[in-house]
Amino acid sequence: MSLRDKWCPTLDEWTTECWRSNELRWKLKPKAVKKAAAFLGLTKEVEVQPVDKRWLDGVGCYCCDGGPIHRILLARGLSPEAASLCLWHELTHAKQAEGFVSSLEFWEKFRDTYNAVAGGSEDYFNLPIEKEAFENMDYHWTIGPLAK
Ligand SMILES: [Zn+2]
Repeated sequence: MSLRDKWCPTLDEWTTECWRSNELRWKLKPKAVKKAAAFLGLTKEVEVQPVDKRWLDGVGCYCCDGGPIHRILLARGLSPEAASLCLWHELTHAKQAEGFVSSLEFWEKFRDTYNAVAGGSEDYFNLPIEKEAFENMDYHWTIGPLAK
């Protein structure tokens, strides 16, 4: 099964769910997040903020703002399981960004590619950085959930 076949319907479901309610449905597991960050080899601190779905293109976002910490936004309306899976995804982008001088440089490198592919298209799921991020969502089940 391709990553698109596996995750596209799920992402659609999550998005619909997040538009339905803006109520905060998940709670971060700070210790588990720290462990996950260490497991992925992150050197910078991670801050996760629940936000209104309207602020996001999808249901989560790694902020390539060039700041000293990794800022991740997750939709408030996600289920705990979805928030956890999504966080493993965004932490992977944080790890990828650490391979660059700054997260801004990371964004510069991939901006054009992102603008060229519409979210949800086959191309999006085939971007190497997205492939890795979707594959790492499996850590939710093998390493552990990051939200409850
Ligand atoms: Zn991604």
